[in-house]
Amino acid sequence: ARRGGRDAVHLFDPQQDDAAAARRVLVETRLRGALERGELRLHYQPQQERSGAVRHFEALLRWQDALLGQVSPAEFVPVAETAGLITELDLWVLNEACQQLRAWRTVHPTWQVAVNISPPLLLRRDFVPRLRDLLAETGVAVGSLELEVTERLLIEHEDQTRETLRALLDLGIGVALDDFGVGQSSLSSLLHLPITTLKIDRAFVRPLDAEDAVEAQAAFKIVQAIVALARSLHLRVVAEGVETGEQAAAVWRLGLDAVQGYWTGRPVPPEALVRPAGLPAPLDDPPADTRDLN
Ligand code: C2E
Ligand code: MG
Ligand code: MG
Ligand code: MG
Repeated sequence: ARRGGRDAVHLFDPQQDDAAAARRVLVETRLRGALERGELRLHYQPQQERSGAVRHFEALLRWQDALLGQVSPAEFVPVAETAGLITELDLWVLNEACQQLRAWRTVHPTWQVAVNISPPLLLRRDFVPRLRDLLAETGVAVGSLELEVTERLLIEHEDQTRETLRALLDLGIGVALDDFGVGQSSLSSLLHLPITTLKIDRAFVRPLDAEDAVEAQAAFKIVQAIVALARSLHLRVVAEGVETGEQAAAVWRLGLDAVQGYWTGRPVPPEALVRPAGLPAPLDDPPADTRDLN
């Protein structure tokens, strides 16, 4: 479409812009009171390892507002970031995740939780000491927690990011680079980043079972290259957004260490991960078609 002139109205509909801006203001206003009103919860999405074992879960924020209903983090996290609210939310999530790990500790001592951290919290000078205190208070082993960060961090704060990530690794806390491949950072800056895991964005995973063989082949080659890179850096490599058995099979053939996506399970409240008998549901039922693949 052409920009400017009459076409502009289709590209930048002022009414639509107004509606989007109004929605943002509303989300921000409601979000300010959400923690106090107890409207936030964590859901957990399982990751499955090659062996079929399930013991790693990503914590994902869920917000149920009385007025707005269920609001997706894809919408409210960016709002929280620009409104200066994200650090408070991330600290709440970290605390909640550690309480959950503590509750699981006796029955599931090997379970791990990954928490998404936005740049403002990671860049705080007191972040690492605070995290260390939280782990000490809750009695959670450092190895039970993984943090997920995105490449955005690197762009403006490369030196400080590197320093903080290094301190986390020294402490024994794993760090995953989330949404890998869709960010802006150069491969060279990633090469020396102190991280432990690469999470390949679902944009590369989804086409693995595309009907179009050329598209599927291209995706296969991209993921293959990422896996080779990850291997040379001794990183664990995980596929995000795996939705089908075909995608999972392709991912195993490509040699990834773990898969995560609707295929391994939707994000669910913590109660849903534990059966009445006290057994973790996913461990009992590794999807049949991955069991023998290696
Ligand atoms: P993310 O960290 O990349 O999380 C993965 C997102 O993909 C989640 O969306 C998850 O529900 C969704 N997903 C998982 N498997 C599949 C699949 O097979 N297909 C598709 N289409 N989607 C899948 P969600 O929960 O809506 O979260 C969106 C984003 O919001 C997250 O992306 C993360 O960047 C951010 N976020 C969520 N919780 C937190 C948090 O506690 N703190 C911060 N700072 N950000 C968070
Ligand atoms: Mg994540
Ligand atoms: Mg992701
Ligand atoms: Mg994301």
